[in-house]
Amino acid sequence: MAIDPQKLRLEGIYPQRQGDFYMQRIKLPAGVISALQARRVAEIAGRYARGTVHLTTRGSMELHWLTAETLPVVAREMASVGLISRGACGGAVRGVVCGSLDLAVSTKLEGVVRLIHSHFSGNPRFESLPKKFKIAVEADIASGRHLIQDLALVPVDLAADELSFNVWVAGGLGRQPTPAFLLAGDIPLDRVIGMVEAVVRVYAAHTPAGKRLKHLVAEIGQDELRRLVLAEPSAGEALPTVASLSSSLVPTLSSPERRVEVGVFAGELAGSELAALAEIADKWAGGILLVTGNQNIVLHLTPAAELDRVREELAYAGFTGTSRRERVLCRVCPGSHECLVGLGATREIAAELVEKLGPAGVKLTWAISGCPNSCAQPQLADAGIIVSRLQPGEAKAPLFDLYRRSGDGFGERTAERLTLAELMQQVGEIG
Ligand code: SF4
Repeated sequence: MAIDPQKLRLEGIYPQRQGDFYMQRIKLPAGVISALQARRVAEIAGRYARGTVHLTTRGSMELHWLTAETLPVVAREMASVGLISRGACGGAVRGVVCGSLDLAVSTKLEGVVRLIHSHFSGNPRFESLPKKFKIAVEADIASGRHLIQDLALVPVDLAADELSFNVWVAGGLGRQPTPAFLLAGDIPLDRVIGMVEAVVRVYAAHTPAGKRLKHLVAEIGQDELRRLVLAEPSAGEALPTVASLSSSLVPTLSSPERRVEVGVFAGELAGSELAALAEIADKWAGGILLVTGNQNIVLHLTPAAELDRVREELAYAGFTGTSRRERVLCRVCPGSHECLVGLGATREIAAELVEKLGPAGVKLTWAISGCPNSCAQPQLADAGIIVSRLQPGEAKAPLFDLYRRSGDGFGERTAERLTLAELMQQVGEIG
């Protein structure tokens, strides 16, 4: 079957750097996946994706090594358990993320994510955008994740009965890292859909193909963007937010100790490991797994769950939580393992890095991006690494830039064009 990769992007499919193979991204609102769905993904991985599932820094899953023949089969099998990945790639509203579902108020934010996801996913009105449009709902601004989105919603007062949101827009990393700015404050929940729609419409109408919202703002300025957005009829539109019985699937935490984070090294899971985690989630976590922005799996244990039993079962499944690979928070993108434009083997670099870290280094968050597109969000980690270029000449060995973050904004580049040996030396010197 002849495949036009461009046309398949909206279905969440990208070609791999290895010709004839494809990646299928699985869109998970707020990173939430049921045990039933996770089991199906594990089965599909075993049959068609060399037995491996990758977790992304935006709470999605990815299956690699699919072929033109297996893509339609995989799409049907996923759809049979409600996994529809429309808009997971291409010029569309991408998966809506929420890095804050650990909190006791998670149910409120999950509902907002699902509201946005269901409005924009698969809606043809928002599928011919100039480029991707990334949305996040975050509990606060402490993590800095609101800074890297095309649009982020942050509640004014998370404890309030009636939520309202500050709306941040036009952020992004890549080759031109740009922090988002505050577009509008205190937008009530019933105006959220209209406001997001207004921003997306302005983006679609005024931005050249291939450019993000941050590029439009660089051209016209923040004030003009605000003027254009507020002139959209939908910006002031209030839509009824009728309570849904299925807006929240994640069990609310009764205490922080009931949250169990399973360290997944470099976001790479065997299908059999994912199936085992699904079993544990079914027994002890309301049948729900959360994919985090650090590419781990989180379980919210129900009140009946016995923590010791859960730990035992995790250890039996291979997750003892004691190895460096499980404990160090190190995000990676696919890099040159599978990505078309990757310049470095990110997972191998991560494996070397975690062994080099001293006592201070293991406590930091790390992120390794295989090219300056920065998909692993290195500027938001305590220490970030970008494979910035290849050495000239025959060898074409990767060269690395190192970033350190200390304040509320993006990390700053502290070293550039390091060889792998020089990078590891600097990593080891962190202490
Ligand atoms: S950062 Fe670069 S190498 Fe990594 S996934 Fe993104 S585009 Fe690919």
